[in-house]
Amino acid sequence: MSDATRGTDVSDRSDMNGTSSHTGEWLGRYAASLIPVFGVPQTVLSHGQGCYVVDVDGKRYLDLLAGIAVNTLGHGHPALVDAVTKQASQLVHISNFFTSPPQVELAEALLRVAEAPAGSGVFFANSGTEAIEAAVKLSRRTGRGTIIAAEGAFHGRSTGALALTWKLAYREPFAPLIGRVVHVPFNDEAALSAAVAEVGDDLAAVILEPIQGEAGVNASSTAYLQLARELTTAAGALLILDEIQCGMGRTGRWFAYQSRGVVPDAITLAKGLAGGVPIGALVTFGAQVTGLLSAGQHGSTFGGNPLACAAGVAVVDTIETDGLLEHATAMGAHLAERIAALGHPAIAGVRGEGLLRAVAFTEPVAAQVMTLAREAGFIVNAVAPDALRLAPPLVIEAHELDTFIAALPGLLDAALADAALAGGPP
Ligand code: PLP
Repeated sequence: MSDATRGTDVSDRSDMNGTSSHTGEWLGRYAASLIPVFGVPQTVLSHGQGCYVVDVDGKRYLDLLAGIAVNTLGHGHPALVDAVTKQASQLVHISNFFTSPPQVELAEALLRVAEAPAGSGVFFANSGTEAIEAAVKLSRRTGRGTIIAAEGAFHGRSTGALALTWKLAYREPFAPLIGRVVHVPFNDEAALSAAVAEVGDDLAAVILEPIQGEAGVNASSTAYLQLARELTTAAGALLILDEIQCGMGRTGRWFAYQSRGVVPDAITLAKGLAGGVPIGALVTFGAQVTGLLSAGQHGSTFGGNPLACAAGVAVVDTIETDGLLEHATAMGAHLAERIAALGHPAIAGVRGEGLLRAVAFTEPVAAQVMTLAREAGFIVNAVAPDALRLAPPLVIEAHELDTFIAALPGLLDAALADAALAGGPP
């Protein structure tokens, strides 16, 4: 289905609410009222429960993307609903002239699960890109100006984060971007060593995603992150790890760096932290790094508001009480093993850790598979021409994953047949 026709096939279905809420009409109103930076939405969602979402025409989808690694507890989880409802009835917002119990509790919880040393601290923002901006400002306080980032990196869309992001199509329309940024090939130890040596005394920070999400779910090796730690320590620079996509339990550890035996100087969080309520965070490790930012040097009106922080506390509590780290590990292994066991000739492998995965294809048919999957009632993401990203809620069960795994060979065969008909690969 092309973007132009997407959604119109269901426009005459009856709507959910007895109002003009069918897909085609909402998409028309969307096109007439929003700046089209996201292109044409795939569909119009109305509500959800557990790992399922429902569109405005009543079609149900298994959500294998979770708002791109955001809906940690799925949809309508009672712990999140209760926390947000209760907090909304008490205090939604206060200024940063004040604090609130949820803000302090969430900061304490993050420091605990991050195993951060004494003197560590948290700054709350409202999104991933804002967490990165805070990290960039932190790095500037070293008195140095150059940041090394990785090719393929995605760190956000605000201008500072965009300077660190790799994709030219995102950066070029907004050039010149701020700061001195050197991009090095990801997971390439020699290239990192050479870049650190070349930048020399001006190196403020190396910033890396332990698992690059937007680049196609590419995991850093333990040796690479450990080298990054050694090189930054020796250079007197910061090692900042962007855990915005891979953190908050998604890999089966609280944070992906924890399975790699490194202690960073700072991490950035957002996405899954409050289960879908907007939030971002910079966590600084140790008193020296935390001391780089002092009163008045950074701030945010909404950052750390009681509502978002109460949601974050509910997410952390539920991950702990429901054993979701172990569950993410088990479900991730189940997913990877069962997909590998399909033995489909067009499946090249399954990348990633825990419940942050990409199914790699031998042909560039991911977009077709994504469209066919959606028509079949599965939400997935073509993260690369030849890779499908799966980042379901951490509460997903094996029987739910199995419905997609059973459907995958048929979806893939149909996509390959479509591609062959269109004269494309194979
Ligand atoms: N960093 C990483 C690793 C991300 O995956 C993203 C978003 O996809 C961001 C930063 C930016 O987060 P946000 O979209 O909340 O600004």
